[in-house]
Amino acid sequence: MGSLSDHINFVLIPLMAPGHTIPMIDMAKLFAKRGVNITIILTPLDATRFSSVIERAVRSGLPIQLLQVKFPSEEAGLPPGCESADSLPSYDLMPNFFNAITMLQKPMEEILKELNPTPSCIICDKHIAWTADTCTKFQIPRIVFDGMSCFTQLVTNNIYISKIHENVALEKPFIVPDLPDEIEFTKLQLPGLLNPGTSTITGFREQVRKTEFQAYGMVVNSFEELEQRYVDEFRKIKNVWCIGPLSLWSNDSLDIAQRGNNQDSINSDQFMNWLDSKKQGSVIYACLGSLSRLSTAQFIELALGLEESSHPFILVVKTSGGNSEEIEKWILEEEFEERIKERGLLIRGWAPQVLILSHSAVGGFLTHCGWNSTLEGICSGLPMITWPMFGEQFLNEKLVVQILGTGVGVGAQAVVHLGEEQKPEMKVMRNGITKAIQRVMDEGKEGSERRKMAKELGEKARRSVEVGGSSDLNARLLIQEIAQLGKSKQ
Ligand code: UDP
Repeated sequence: MGSLSDHINFVLIPLMAPGHTIPMIDMAKLFAKRGVNITIILTPLDATRFSSVIERAVRSGLPIQLLQVKFPSEEAGLPPGCESADSLPSYDLMPNFFNAITMLQKPMEEILKELNPTPSCIICDKHIAWTADTCTKFQIPRIVFDGMSCFTQLVTNNIYISKIHENVALEKPFIVPDLPDEIEFTKLQLPGLLNPGTSTITGFREQVRKTEFQAYGMVVNSFEELEQRYVDEFRKIKNVWCIGPLSLWSNDSLDIAQRGNNQDSINSDQFMNWLDSKKQGSVIYACLGSLSRLSTAQFIELALGLEESSHPFILVVKTSGGNSEEIEKWILEEEFEERIKERGLLIRGWAPQVLILSHSAVGGFLTHCGWNSTLEGICSGLPMITWPMFGEQFLNEKLVVQILGTGVGVGAQAVVHLGEEQKPEMKVMRNGITKAIQRVMDEGKEGSERRKMAKELGEKARRSVEVGGSSDLNARLLIQEIAQLGKSKQ
């Protein structure tokens, strides 16, 4: 006799951006390991990036099928092959990118009509708002994945509903109403929905918010023990399943080395050998995610801040920004790489982040506080040096620094929206970076206590995904609920 999950099919539709696609690929494996048929729909570019990981999962017997849909780049005014947010030549093209996503509704629905088993639910990124309409047509539940924590959800919700931010000056801190803790923000630190800057996608964001709240439920890349009071509060307003940290559902070493990029395993050995030569817990790993494009001035502050900290470090240098050549020129002219070669390593392009973070030589993570990176730092039991940039990253910083007590900020004060990085004013200074690194790496009481708390959190994260752990149980509950819904429809 087959199990309850044999005949159900979860359709996964990620947003085309590494920070959104990577956790969805982990999610595919998580549900498939529990017997659910998974259909994941990717564009050709993402299919190339993730094919090795998915093929390995399929070869190991997991019921995952990868289907491709053409991304209408040119129809939406994007360069050919530009199919993911990180591949946009300029973030001014973000409205075109979201238009292209809207155009995917019809071809995706054609795919859904042919699926066997028929779809039981769609788990989609919240930004794919048209899936609300599709789920109504196919009479299946829509489960939203927005890649953030319950803390962020609740803060955003309470500000959005109370509109408290509308009547305060830009730089004046205000307390977010109805939270379990006293949490302050300024308007300048809020995500785009509440702090749009010069954005032209406000209407799109409102639509996302509306369809997100109308959805049947939400899967959250977090675990209950990390933010229990916020999970409980958020559950009062939404059906929520915390099923993370999603990065921990992959224990295949090649999957970890190739996470987000098939190619990278080639270089991994080189980085790991370098780390092998360093003292335990001594290295700072600095990476600002997949989308941030630092201005040259900010890159210089970061590089010099790391150098002046006198700790060994790895710095990931992104090569996709319009100013990459300028940054390379600075590195060359200053002989920066030569100068730091005894204790610093620059990685250009994509770094195998989760692999690096798992190395025992790494003692601190300088992060932009993207939620995936934040959680990956938590899973590795590392204290963090926080430099939030855009989106909800200031909220993630608050969670890490104030609530969890495992991070120290570099002093960023305001969101720098994607595409606005080149505005001339200097935002974060090298001595803020150096000071934060020194506090995190400090061998005294403060540093030791922070390290201890970070380590304990890492252990809790691991326990949550073990059999019987909170995230394992939540994943099973979701599967059961969807299976029951399907049965009662028959
Ligand atoms: N990442 C990586 N190597 C890089 C840059 C990013 O592996 O060089 C991964 C990182 O581990 C995380 C994701 O890409 O899983 C970035 O997501 P996050 O939410 O942290 O930030 P975003 O890129 O969305 O700003």
